[in-house]
Amino acid sequence: MKRWIALLLAGFLLPFSAFGQDTGISVSVPEKTLHPWDSILIRFFLPEDGTAELILMDEEGEERFPVVKDYQAVRGQNSLFWNGTYAHQTAPEGIWRLVLRFGALQAETRITIGTPLAQIMENPAPLQLRFTPATTSPYDGMDQTLNYWTLPMNIHDEEAIWQVLTSPITVVDNGKGERAQVILRAEPSAESAGVGSVTCATQGVHVISRGEEWSLVECYSSSFHDSPILNWNALVQGYVPTEYLTEITPSQELGFVIDKLTQRLYVFREGRLFSTLLVSTGLSNPRQPYNETRSGEFLMTSKVGTFSSDNLRCGLAIRFNRGDLLHEVPYTLLGDGSASYSLCEPKLGTKASHGCIRVQRKLTPEGVNMGWIWANLKNNSRTRLLIWEDWQGRQIEIPAEDTPVYYNPRGGQYYHLKETCDMTRAGIRFTSFPYGQLDEKPYSKLKRCAYCAPLLRRAEIEAINAQYAFGGDHDPVLTEARESCPRPLK
Ligand SMILES: [Zn+2]
Repeated sequence: MKRWIALLLAGFLLPFSAFGQDTGISVSVPEKTLHPWDSILIRFFLPEDGTAELILMDEEGEERFPVVKDYQAVRGQNSLFWNGTYAHQTAPEGIWRLVLRFGALQAETRITIGTPLAQIMENPAPLQLRFTPATTSPYDGMDQTLNYWTLPMNIHDEEAIWQVLTSPITVVDNGKGERAQVILRAEPSAESAGVGSVTCATQGVHVISRGEEWSLVECYSSSFHDSPILNWNALVQGYVPTEYLTEITPSQELGFVIDKLTQRLYVFREGRLFSTLLVSTGLSNPRQPYNETRSGEFLMTSKVGTFSSDNLRCGLAIRFNRGDLLHEVPYTLLGDGSASYSLCEPKLGTKASHGCIRVQRKLTPEGVNMGWIWANLKNNSRTRLLIWEDWQGRQIEIPAEDTPVYYNPRGGQYYHLKETCDMTRAGIRFTSFPYGQLDEKPYSKLKRCAYCAPLLRRAEIEAINAQYAFGGDHDPVLTEARESCPRPLK
């Protein structure tokens, strides 16, 4: 718990700058009960930079509990996660006035505090908060149905994931094909400011309210370098013409989840997690913030095949979001015409691409690689792909000490996920040892197998978790690039 300070501040740059023209003072929270040790996103607007304070007050104006003191706030929108505690005390249960004080100015809203999450108090393991794709949405908590936006990012909940993967998806379609994009508008009017871009026919949207002419939807902005609205992978809410909304039933045989936090592709088949593969999603840089792979839910469409990107050749590519494709880890051609994977293959399991999703070519114990995916998907299969956002504050679970890990005691140099692995000759069965001993002799020198995506070492998980701890910023380059978003229409 040591890293989990009572107040979980996240310096989130939130994707609502288009709505941030307001010069007054206001505060809002999602309409849901906050159970202390879970978290809620508090958003507030201020007319200028300065020090703000948030407190819980009762009806009589009595101060009952501090939320944050001396918060260094900025003009416009501010956002912070609050976990319902202060100095290790939990906020009192009840319905309170959440009061924002800024100099002589004051604003308030209602907040409901529930019972603390008891299981977390009892469990000293790293705190696992509940994150969904809509975690920072102002509408979070309003939708009670199970869908991509309300599904907790927990790969172990196979039943819920399968239900989401196979249920109908709502896309925006203006009839101009899967490369076209539609602008999300701040107001229900074609003259209103754009807040984000959504890709037609393949990108799912969350319908918040459906009107006769315009509907309010949310999605991660599919902003590519040439998109009409540049708001890099920001979760946005805006209006689209209702006539564009189309419901599609996806493939009922297969479905995929890609988690940008773990850099893994999870293949679901017949209701179960069938196989886990290593991927590389996009890595932004100061000149190319659009490299960040856009999160959201998508349908796999055209089989593109092989294409070239600079000196890299990318095979078995299948389109799912305009310029974003799922394809085999790229290779370079050597002088003798043979393919070399040595440039990109070692990076699998970390961000590395220009936005596409690179998938391993080595076979998992279940016999899955990008070639398997290509062979099992028909052209325009409409197989659903969920891409989970790596929200700041998300953490990778550290495996239990007694989780079995496998190796070959007769000189094996690698550790594996399962008893067998495609890396070795068929028929070899490995010996198991507990994960808790992985950093001890003779296991400490074992390398991670590149075929079966075995568990990361504890120190590796802790390094990722530190990068993603609350209050930090795992990608300052992208954060800075978003500060000028959304760019006005030319
Ligand atoms: Zn292996």
